[in-house]
Parts: sequence; structure tokens; C-alpha cells
Amino acid sequence: MIKTKAFHFLKPIIPRKIQIFLRRILINLCLHSCRNIWPIDPKSAIPPEGWTGWPENKKFALVLTHDVDTQAGVDNCPLIAEIEERLGFRSSFNFVAEDYKISKELINSLKTKGFEIGLHSIHHNNPFISKKYFEKLAVKINKYLKDWDAVGFRSPSMYHNLELIHNLKVEYDASTFDTDPFEPQPDGVGTIFPFWVSGNYDQKGYVELPYTLPQDFLLFILLQQNNIDIWKKKLDWIAEKGGMALFIIHPDYISFNRNSHYEKYPVKYYEEFLTYIKTKYKGQYWHVLPRDIARFWATNHRGNNILSNGSTKERKKEKIWIDLDNTPHIPFFKPIIVELNKRGYECILTARDAYQVIALADRFGLKYKKMGRHYGKNKIFKVLGLIIRSMELMPIILRQKPALALSHGSRTQLVIANLLGISSMEIYDYEYAHDLIFFNPTYAMTPEIIPDSSIKRNRVRLMKYPGIKEDVYVSSYIPDSTIKTDLKMDDEKVIVTIRPPANEAHYFCQASGELFEATIKFLLQKEDVQLILIPRNKKQEDLISKTWPSAIATDKIIIPDHAINGLDLMWFSDLVISGGGTMNREAAALGVPVYSIFRGTIGAVDNYLSEKGRLVLLESSNDLGAKIKLIKRDKNFSPNQSEKQALNTIVNKLVEILQK
Ligand SMILES: [Zn+2]
Repeated sequence: MIKTKAFHFLKPIIPRKIQIFLRRILINLCLHSCRNIWPIDPKSAIPPEGWTGWPENKKFALVLTHDVDTQAGVDNCPLIAEIEERLGFRSSFNFVAEDYKISKELINSLKTKGFEIGLHSIHHNNPFISKKYFEKLAVKINKYLKDWDAVGFRSPSMYHNLELIHNLKVEYDASTFDTDPFEPQPDGVGTIFPFWVSGNYDQKGYVELPYTLPQDFLLFILLQQNNIDIWKKKLDWIAEKGGMALFIIHPDYISFNRNSHYEKYPVKYYEEFLTYIKTKYKGQYWHVLPRDIARFWATNHRGNNILSNGSTKERKKEKIWIDLDNTPHIPFFKPIIVELNKRGYECILTARDAYQVIALADRFGLKYKKMGRHYGKNKIFKVLGLIIRSMELMPIILRQKPALALSHGSRTQLVIANLLGISSMEIYDYEYAHDLIFFNPTYAMTPEIIPDSSIKRNRVRLMKYPGIKEDVYVSSYIPDSTIKTDLKMDDEKVIVTIRPPANEAHYFCQASGELFEATIKFLLQKEDVQLILIPRNKKQEDLISKTWPSAIATDKIIIPDHAINGLDLMWFSDLVISGGGTMNREAAALGVPVYSIFRGTIGAVDNYLSEKGRLVLLESSNDLGAKIKLIKRDKNFSPNQSEKQALNTIVNKLVEILQK
């Protein structure tokens, strides 16, 4: 309990710097691949159908807005207002209702001076984590809108869901942008004009105002620019195209003194830019408050639901990004992919060149993009590998814009999904694997048998499926006996398939390694036994070859020299001994006798299988002779074609999320 509290207390302090640091690196790396769409996406200049131009024959529209994220920002509001007043501008201030103190005096004084007040949600977090959540929040938001006499909403961090905004009593929403691939939810609406979002049935619809100038935070904090060239360039382009220049300035990040801070930029940039607009485009722009441009649009352009790239509202079926980063993920995700495709969803696959991921993905006929590899046991290399792979993947994911990131515990995916604000689903069944402290998935799914009490996840929506993970693919398994000749299996002998413990996994335990060696020694003494050894990597293979060369030379130990179907291997074995989770469970799901030499903390699934007598836990070398039954088994009947309950439940829940 104390630990959890401490974590919540520390979380807002630590990850901020780390996240800014990571985002800086990643954004700089993505800049090149995004150069055709950022800061200018030429396609977004197309005016709406029947466009007759801005009032008073102005060349372009100019709208200034502010998002106030923190108390420090509130304190800066009067200073910003003063600058704008002095230069002849007015803007809107969007406040977060319950994160800090906002005085009635401040609101009234801003209003009196001709500024507009808008709502920047109740708290500064993603309001769209679920339909239910937002609908509940909407009641509160509507109350504040009424209290403040406000008509506009902007979502924190530009999370957007134009369907759900219909729950708000607003004239406009301003939570989207023409193009900004660096936002947490990076799908731009592809237009530098406002557009009307019509409601269904009794909903009345509202105007959407995308921001069209890069945010101050991106330019000065993340990209560390020390001039306003990008702003000028974009404004000149918008002016030329006759669009709407809509600005977001955060009073929070503006410094009014000379002290430098990693999250602040000097106020002179903003002053300089306002002066630039004022001088260069004197008399050429229609400068209005957001509510006024929204009213103009609602009156004159209600008919045009222009979303020139068809995004947000009209997008038909969403894409799902699946990251395959370990061998067992391939047979597991294959039937899920098939099922999702059947329902019209596209799956984008990325695969890590580690273990047998690539070879197996090829065997299963999966189309994937190869990204990253295994960087070994060293902790620093592991972290570096994670960063490198994230950087490689980032541009691809930015381009594909998946609606959901799905994996069986891929850390790279979790990092990217968090940084890009993509909803993520992590399916897992071993509750003791160490979490990445700062990166949680949006959703998690585990077998029903894992008790809630053992899942230590904060703010994650937890779902359950019946049975065990292996039921997902074992249910549709059809044995292929070519593996027998392929691996020179001796039909006269008891075939024992052995999987060494993982010595590079983060839950490695020395005792498993010792028990593995004892097991091989024990089996090598038996006359009528043949061993098929499946090393996890080249290093293990070399070590095994060096330790038992004569057994390998006489085919007493067989080490396959290519990727094989693990299910076939187990099905044609008489028993399986494994030092790791998945193989144990696959064998158990197939009904093949299986023994575990895994000596770490035993997870709930293994405990469950052990209790059901489907898995025998070997705890010491004394257990070898006492517990292992070296007998041949009947392989003539078909494996249990258990119901596809696990598979169907998983796919149904995914579709449910995608339809939100
Ligand atoms: Zn904000």
C-alpha cells in the first residue's frame, strides 16, 4: 500500500524529464521521414466546397488560443493578456477545471477585456479512455461550460474523438490539428479550414477548429528551436492559401525572465511573432475569437462535413499493430490475425529478429516488417536495444496510424504506444515478469485463472479470457508427421523433448540451470530414450554441443538445425521437459505429459496446470527418478479439439475496443 502511494507521488516528477528526453530523441529522428507532411501538409490547403472566402474579404483568418495546464500557467495569464492587448490582439484561455485554482476575478477580468474562456477538460489527462468514462466526464464538463459561460472545448494533449464530443454542450471543439505527427494521437484532420461535425438524431452538431501552427511546446521545448522561422514559414503558407491560422500558446512554458529552464522559452518569441503578423499582413487577416469563427462557420458552412482525408469520422475499419517479439507469439497471434482479417480489420505486423521469430513467422505465412534484434543479457544493452528499436519503429507506426497496439508483452510496443498515445492491449499470462514502471498499456488481458490480486497494474483496464493462452492455437492444431523423419526420431525409443531454461530472460534463476544439467545426465543414462533438445539461442546450442558431443554424434541427442513447428514436435514426443512457460503449457494443452524444471516463482497458470495434474513440477534432482515416467504414449488419436472459446473471447474483446 505504502509502495503504491509512493509510486503515485513520484510518478509526476520522474517520468516528465525522462519522457521529454526520449521524445526529443525520437522526434528528431522522425523529422526527416515526416518532412513531406510537417510543418506543411500541402494536401490540407484545399478549401471546402462552395467556399466564398472570409468576411470582409480578408486573405486569411487568425485565431489565438491558450491552454493553461498548471498553476504556473494561470499566474502567467494576465501577463500574456497584457502583451496581446498592447499589440491589438485577443485570444481564448482554456482552463483545466479541477487541477488548480482559478479565481472568478481572473475569469471576469479576462472576459471584460474581450478575451474568451474555454474549457481544457476537468483534469489534464486523456478524457477518451472509454465511452463510459467520457460520458460521465461530460456531465461535469457541461456544468463548468455553463458556470463559465463558455462554448468551446479543447482536450488535454489533443486527444480527440469527434463522436464523443457530441456529448458536450459546445459550439466548437478545438482538439484536432491539420498535421502534427508528433502528437500523442497523431492523426491530423488534413485541413487548414474549420469544419462542421454533424450529429446523429437529436444531436445538434458543432464546429471543429483544428490548430494549424505548430505548438510552442514542440518547437521550443522538444525541438529546441531558438527562433520563430517555422512559425513564419507556416503562417506565410496559410496566408497564401487563404486558410485559418490557429495558434496554441501555453502560458505554462513561457519565461518572463532570463532564467533558462528545460521546459520554458522566452516570451520574446511570441511577441516577435505577433509583431511579424501585424506588420507583414496589416489589414489582410480576419482576427477573431474561436467562438466567433465557429459561429461564422455554423451559419455559413454547416452543410460541409469536410474532412478532406476522410479521417476521424469517416474512417471505416481501424488498423491493428501487432508486434511479434518472441517465438511463441507467432502461433498465438496467427489465428487471432486470421479472425480479425475475417472481420475486416487490417493487421500491421512487426517482428523482432530474436530467437526463432523470423523463421517461424515465415513458416506461418505472416507478412511482417523486420525490426530490431536481441541485444543480450546485459541490462544496459537491453535498454539501448529497446531505445534503438523504438526509434526504428516510430516512423512506420506514425505513418500507419494504428488504432490499437497489440502484443503479448512487447516492451518496445508499449513504449511507442505510450509516446504516440496509441491505445494498447497487452495480453499476458505470466504475472511476475517485471513491468516497465512508467509505461502501462491501456488495456490488459489475462487468463481468468490469474487472480486479480496478483496483477499489479495501475490505471489499466483489465479483461479476462477463459482457459489458457495455448488453447488459442492448440484448438485448431492438426498434426503433421513429417517431423518424425525430419528429426530422425527413433520410433522404438521414448522420445523426450527438452527445452533449457531461459538464461537471458529477466526472470532467470540459477537453480533452473542446474536442474537442467542434472536432467540431461539422468536421461543420458537411460538406454531406450532419445532426446530432442531445443536450445533458445546459439550460445546455448554451442554450450550443449560442447558438453555432450558424443551423445550428439550418435543421435542420442538431436538438436534441430532449422525452425520447427513446436506443436508437431511435442505431439510426436512421449514427454516434454521444459524450463520455460510456453512449452510447458503447449504440451499440457495438447495433453502430452509434461514436466517443468523452471525454478523461479511459479505463475498462476503453471500452478493451475499442476493442480489439475496436467503439469508435473520437478523441484530437485531427486525428483527426476521419482516423478518422470519414461513410457511411450499413444499418438493415434487427435489432440483435444477444445472449443475455440479462448480465441473467440479475445477477438470479441478486441473488436469491442476498436468499435469504441
Ligand atoms: Zn494542455
